Amino acid sequence: MRISVIGTGYLGATHAAGMAELGFEVLGVDNNPAKVAALAAGRVPFHEPDLPELLSKHVDDGRLRFGTSLAEAARFADVHFLCVGTPQGPTGAADLSQLYSALAGLVPHLTRNCLIVGKSTVPVGTAEALAEYVDALAPQGISVDLAWNPEFLREGHAVHDTLHPNRLVFGVTTPGAEWALRQVYSEAIAADTPVVITNLPTAELVKVSANAFLATKISFINAMAELCEITGADVTLLADALGHDDRIGRKFLGAGLGYGGGCLPKDVRALIARAGELGVGESVRFLDSVDAINLRRRERVIRETLDLLGGRTRPRVAVLGAAFKPLSDDVRDSPALEVAVRLHAAGVEVTVFDPEANRSASRIAPQLRYAPTATAALLGADVVLHLTEWREFRELDPTVLRSVARGRVIVDARNTLDPEPWQAAGWDFRALGRLVAPREEVGRVDPLLESA
Ligand code: NAD
Repeated sequence: MRISVIGTGYLGATHAAGMAELGFEVLGVDNNPAKVAALAAGRVPFHEPDLPELLSKHVDDGRLRFGTSLAEAARFADVHFLCVGTPQGPTGAADLSQLYSALAGLVPHLTRNCLIVGKSTVPVGTAEALAEYVDALAPQGISVDLAWNPEFLREGHAVHDTLHPNRLVFGVTTPGAEWALRQVYSEAIAADTPVVITNLPTAELVKVSANAFLATKISFINAMAELCEITGADVTLLADALGHDDRIGRKFLGAGLGYGGGCLPKDVRALIARAGELGVGESVRFLDSVDAINLRRRERVIRETLDLLGGRTRPRVAVLGAAFKPLSDDVRDSPALEVAVRLHAAGVEVTVFDPEANRSASRIAPQLRYAPTATAALLGADVVLHLTEWREFRELDPTVLRSVARGRVIVDARNTLDPEPWQAAGWDFRALGRLVAPREEVGRVDPLLESA
């Protein structure tokens, strides 16, 4: 069985390398020649742990190739995975044009019966419409089956999640499609990965509703953070206490700056839009609040920062983090980058440091300054904002940084820093919804540090 992967972005590049690791011959196809050139040379054009090694291993052993020709993919593969983007369109609904153009380039060139498997995240009902489109384009005598196999990988853990998925969902309409997907995923199935066999709309909805649920959980705890802030409660302890209930669980209860990235924000809005089109907008009305709570966190940090800067002339802010989450350089709808950009627009001089995302951020926000290290970003800063929770930010030395910055205020918008060393080093430590006692109450500033 030979496999093509169409669209080799974050999802497709990882999927292609993962399929090669499982022993298949794989052709990855993308209409971005620069991306294809990088991948064909064994280089991953974005940051994803373990992917460079997996990619170069299989480019070198010849099992994995990349190209720009959908006609070649049509001749090459028995199973075609669709991994193109489904970005947010102007109305909030998903823009499905990449899917239609990929199929328009692929299907007329097919020379034998095959299975097309959608992995992109799509509004419910898309697969059935695409199946009709495929039927209309398929050459005479060629039978093309269409299945939906949504992807649940997490950026930053994509290789692990591709090779060891926590569940497999196959939306199929024929036994042949189920048989082919069972062949593709035979290793994971042999390892007892749960498999859900279902119809096309259920498979589409599983993915969209999983993301809506995760977004809701994050916005729920952020709504509680808003209450904590005015009542003197502590949202991190609240989340710990909630998380001890295994019906609730602690994951995705990290209050802070909220979610972002190329999936959750657009998937929530696409679900709202799709439900409206189907006449059941009321059913998901609560997702408007989920989205609004999420965006309010960004406003909250921007407002607090501007308040802290007061009437300073030439105010300066150091921003730690630009990626939407750690272990990634993905800045699509990144809360960190939006806060940085909006502070700059408000007249603040903003210097950003992200361990991996300086380059991707500077492509879409060239107006900001970018520093090569966290320490360099803090040089002369009045306020420090911790906006993406990279592990290395937890290991910064607040005593050293004290002599670098001009001001002594840090806002931990991810609630993952330990306030104590910062306060002990004389910083005014602010958090979101978290009870951080003023410095005097936490403990006196070490006189030795004061004189250092
Ligand atoms: P992406 O934008 O990184 O990748 C899409 C790729 O498709 C791009 O490289 C683009 O050049 C290519 N492309 C577009 N039109 C094409 C065409 N006609 N022919 C060939 N290539 C074409 O997006 P992504 O993050 O990889 O997401 C892809 C899909 O997977 C989306 O629907 C997303 O919601 C879903 N998804 C993403 C993740 C994730 O973590 N990134 C996880 C699960 C699901």
